[in-house]
Amino acid sequence: MPEAPNILSDSADCIDGIVVESNNKVLKFIEDVTAHADEVQRRVLSEILSRSANVEYLQRYGLNGCTDRETFKKVIPVVTYEDLKPDIERIANGDTSPILCSQPISEFLTSSGTSAGERKLMPTIEEELGRRSLLYSLLMPVMSQFLPGLDKGKGMYFLFVKSEAKTPGGLVARPVLTSYYRSSHFKNRPNDPYTNYTSPKETILCLDSYQSMYSQLLCGLFQNEDVVRVGAVFASGFIRAIQFLEKHWSLLCKDIRTGTIDSKITDPSAREAVMKILKPNPKLADFVEAECSKGSWKGIITRLWPETKYIDVIVTGTMSQYIPALDYYSNALPLVCTMYASSECYFGINLNPLCSPSEVSYTLIPNMAYFEFLPVTRKDELTGSISEPTALNDKEKQQLVDLVDVNLGQDYELVVTTYAGLYRYRVGDILRVSGFKNKAPQFNFICRKNVVLSIDSDKTDEVELQNAVKNAANQLLQYEASLVEYTSYADTSAIPGHYVLFWELSVKDSTLIAPSVFEDCCFTVEESLNSVYRQGRVCDKSIGPLEIRVVENGTFDMLMDFALSQGSSINQYKTPRCVKYAPIIELLNSRVISSYFSPKCPRWTAGHKQWCTQN
Ligand code: AMP
Repeated sequence: MPEAPNILSDSADCIDGIVVESNNKVLKFIEDVTAHADEVQRRVLSEILSRSANVEYLQRYGLNGCTDRETFKKVIPVVTYEDLKPDIERIANGDTSPILCSQPISEFLTSSGTSAGERKLMPTIEEELGRRSLLYSLLMPVMSQFLPGLDKGKGMYFLFVKSEAKTPGGLVARPVLTSYYRSSHFKNRPNDPYTNYTSPKETILCLDSYQSMYSQLLCGLFQNEDVVRVGAVFASGFIRAIQFLEKHWSLLCKDIRTGTIDSKITDPSAREAVMKILKPNPKLADFVEAECSKGSWKGIITRLWPETKYIDVIVTGTMSQYIPALDYYSNALPLVCTMYASSECYFGINLNPLCSPSEVSYTLIPNMAYFEFLPVTRKDELTGSISEPTALNDKEKQQLVDLVDVNLGQDYELVVTTYAGLYRYRVGDILRVSGFKNKAPQFNFICRKNVVLSIDSDKTDEVELQNAVKNAANQLLQYEASLVEYTSYADTSAIPGHYVLFWELSVKDSTLIAPSVFEDCCFTVEESLNSVYRQGRVCDKSIGPLEIRVVENGTFDMLMDFALSQGSSINQYKTPRCVKYAPIIELLNSRVISSYFSPKCPRWTAGHKQWCTQN
């Protein structure tokens, strides 16, 4: 994650504040807010509620200007995105009255979580940028406690912006990181040893993903000896960069040798910014060429960037599937997960960044938002599914606990109340309490509720998958065939990863079904999946074509036998709609009769279906 300079406010009510000069001040800030977590939380809630006393949403529930926790919890419901959708649509359509927040909504952040196949729209306000910068500014002082000298070199981070859209009411809608990189907080950040990147901002802000990646890699290779840390936001993004290098290293070497930039890079600002850095360097070109043309890419990161101390990428949650590839490319450099954040709110940081990926825990920073926690129980260890109360009954509501009251080892769903106008909003993440920093709990990220498949930032839930499979399987009926059972898995053994569906069929005469029928089924599934999936397929190319593997009859009975042999109860057994456990995947793969891939990309356009787009 990109760090911000060491700028820190002294309290939740003043983000643009005091400039703190030393790492020690940041560490003291962390000590203070975690030691007084409950007081900070009480103040944050009271601040949010007093500022929002006039907003329609709170008045609707009769909060009547109260700012105390007890009344708030009694009268304000715990909600999901679907509950807020009518209010959010009003804002998107141009209603500027204080519906959710008393401050003007500055833009919408388009979350990778979806609703009806489209990205969720999170309203945000200008001052949230300061809050995000505050969290970023904590990262390097924490990191520097464990690895000195990071201020002496550069970070090679592959950071990207995505296209924007405008709502009918004229507000910009874009992903949170695009919003941050385009903001003055990032673009005009003061010189700071911790925000010294190899990528000029113009290359990050270039919308064309090929040109952006090419320019960033060129600058990273050119400054290879200065690089002390490398990274991207998610592990999948970093691996995409290495894969890009595998494809384009000879062109990149040519540019390093001659000190020019390839003519495919046409973005004037990116070209100009790269040309300010690049000089002819035949020696470096020879070196990069020699390393890249060796048969194996094992350890390529440390070979090309020899001073690299760690890889800064999120490898928690579904991203853990990329750990083996990162270990291979880096000869097992430390993988560092620094922070936990979302479009709704930035949550917390990892205070022990050199721990192993399986032990990563995030300390929620108490002045980011008001946090509550809904206890959840694990239902099925084999499939990893979580029981999910849809609307909360009174008893469940009473189970919500405050930040400082969570229990060690217990799983909770995160519920936030933010400065930007979300009140008791269920984020959809399941967290497990792993310890405490002073009074503030630390959490392992367990999973995103309901998500069964994910390759990059896509999050496909069971219901979406079910509908998509149903749409596709309907096409088989005309061939007197039907789908008996199915399951899925995210295959990341090759990059980009892709969704795999295992289908068991009942077929009268299999010779009647041409391969193109199954290919059409693959395509129909893709067309039926949400916009984040389709964007990954079409625009970012971060997801490969979906595959259907037809398995022999009786395979799903074998799967059930296997689950029972592992202790599942026969009464409760349900076919898992997604499998992750290697022996199960092996079993399924051993029964594959034929496999088919989607022949083309599904449709995708920027913005919600009904909006005009702008770039
Ligand atoms: P978005 O709303 O698209 O920004 O996505 C935010 C979601 O990404 C969070 O709610 C989490 O589900 C996931 N996420 C963010 N940070 C992490 C992390 N450090 N580890 C695992 N998942 C994360």
